[in-house]
Amino acid sequence: MSAPSPEAASYDTIVVGGGIAGLTSAAYLSRAGRKVLLIEKNKECGGLVNTFTHNGFRFDAGVRALENAGIIFPLLQDLGITMEVVKSPVSVGVEKEILHIRNHESLREYRDMLARIYPESTNEIDDVIALIRKIMKYMDVLYGVENPVFKDMKRDREFLMKQLLPWLPKFLLTVRKINRLSTPVEDTLERIIRNPSLRDIIAQHFFLGTPTFFALSYFSLYLDYFYPKGGVGALAEGLANKIRAEGGEIMTETTVTDVFAEQHSLRDDTGRTYAYDTLIWAADLKTLYHRTQTDGLPQREKKQITGVKNAMLKGRGSESVFSLFLEVDVPLETFREISHGHFFYTPSKRGLGETHHAQLRQLLDNWETTGREQVFSWLDAFTEYNTFEISIPGLKYADMAPPGQSGLVVSLLAEYDLFVKVRDAGWLEEFTAGLEARIVRVLSHSIFPMLKDAIIEQFSFSPLSIENRIGSSEGAIVGWSFAEPLPVLSKIQQAGRAVLTPIPDVYQAGQWAYSPGGVPMSILTGKLAADRVLRKR
Ligand SMILES: Cc1cc2nc3c(=O)[nH]c(=O)nc-3n(C[C@H](O)[C@H](O)[C@H](O)COP(=O)(O)OP(=O)(O)OC[C@H]3O[C@@H](n4cnc5c(N)ncnc54)[C@H](O)[C@@H]3O)c2cc1C
Repeated sequence: MSAPSPEAASYDTIVVGGGIAGLTSAAYLSRAGRKVLLIEKNKECGGLVNTFTHNGFRFDAGVRALENAGIIFPLLQDLGITMEVVKSPVSVGVEKEILHIRNHESLREYRDMLARIYPESTNEIDDVIALIRKIMKYMDVLYGVENPVFKDMKRDREFLMKQLLPWLPKFLLTVRKINRLSTPVEDTLERIIRNPSLRDIIAQHFFLGTPTFFALSYFSLYLDYFYPKGGVGALAEGLANKIRAEGGEIMTETTVTDVFAEQHSLRDDTGRTYAYDTLIWAADLKTLYHRTQTDGLPQREKKQITGVKNAMLKGRGSESVFSLFLEVDVPLETFREISHGHFFYTPSKRGLGETHHAQLRQLLDNWETTGREQVFSWLDAFTEYNTFEISIPGLKYADMAPPGQSGLVVSLLAEYDLFVKVRDAGWLEEFTAGLEARIVRVLSHSIFPMLKDAIIEQFSFSPLSIENRIGSSEGAIVGWSFAEPLPVLSKIQQAGRAVLTPIPDVYQAGQWAYSPGGVPMSILTGKLAADRVLRKR
């Protein structure tokens, strides 16, 4: 492929990917007066932080609520972005037991709830609760001060002297303890709990192989969730407005197809070319390495890039998600009596057992001889014993649904490979309809009996929709899979280096740059990448 023309539009920094990471980088660089171009494939920015309207219902397409994590509020304050928000409380339910989480003390109620459901396992429940409590204490330290990356240390001496310096030794000690809790949560729970159903109920809504610390910090995270007026997409909109107000340029509906590393330029899907001094890649990293041409670079650099490229291409995206969007002719009050607007619900205390992983793997490995009935019967168990993440935006802000009605988003972790096999076999529509029907049936027979006769309209997004829309390998929703070797850094003290790439003047940010990903880390790496660019100049 030929190199771009010399008359390409030229920028100090080009940011590829208008998700929350790319928006953060571009906002900071444009505020610093750099000539910045943000290129985004879709019509609107936000990536997996996106809210849309359908028939008067507002839904979040990706993340359902935001965790501050000592990052988002300091970011907003630092950039002068105002946003109305409310707390987004969480409920957790198993069969008929429902717990509304209010504060740290709710952990005790969670313990009692599990003990009522599994009375034969109370000692083991106490052990796991003790571990969660310990992790919550670590989280209190971790989020104990606002993230210093978003503070101006030269101006804010009081923060430096009174908060940051006294906190640092505690932080360093805690980070060491956290690093010791990096074994997969399934292994940790297997050591503590004999009853496989109980293990499932605690952990089956986490990605396979999630590090213990990350998984069992969920109780702290539940207390940290908040929700912006208008939906989570308001955060992306606020950042995009800031970029424009600071003179940055945002180009949407444009996909970057080639990066010419030696020429410091790139090309989009219409053949237009752009030159950069520095590039921040805030999208899928497999795409970056697939699309980067190294012609003209010294041999040593080429070799380094090939090494990293091979590791990236061997890596696998995290599990994906299947989301069902329901527009329901039932008032919000009816749902308010059952749960908060963010609800983790498991209809059966039996747990998924081998259904999600071993049994599914068997189906996929023997696909040629697997009949549709077998897949649907697997789907029966998959929906009956799973844990659903249910979001009802109207319970946070009533104007998210038309008067007298409610919008629900119901999701499950879902295996990308299954959807690929079904699509290639030509029955994706039938499969999706079957999955949607089973979700509605299971919820109507358990927690939401009013659902079955009240659905006005429904539609769903699968791992394939995420892959197509976001360009995310394997439809991943938080970057790399925990079950495979990670091709990026994963220790909090290394986050500053996570944004470096071997490609000259190219930095990386977002959920693929550091593991575990998620909104706060995507924002943090977006800021760290911008800082590197500014320091370089
Ligand atoms: C259902 C769901 C629930 C979640 N729950 C949580 C949660 O509770 N907590 C949490 O922290 N996180 C959660 N996440 C994950 C979180 O939303 C993401 O990790 C985070 O938003 C990723 O941001 P990002 O900017 O790194 O990437 P993305 O949002 O993927 O943004 C990348 C952007 O790059 C664009 N792009 C891709 N390729 C190109 C190209 N070649 N040219 C131009 N543009 C391109 C894409 O269109 C996209 O807009 C959840 C996600 C989902 C889907």
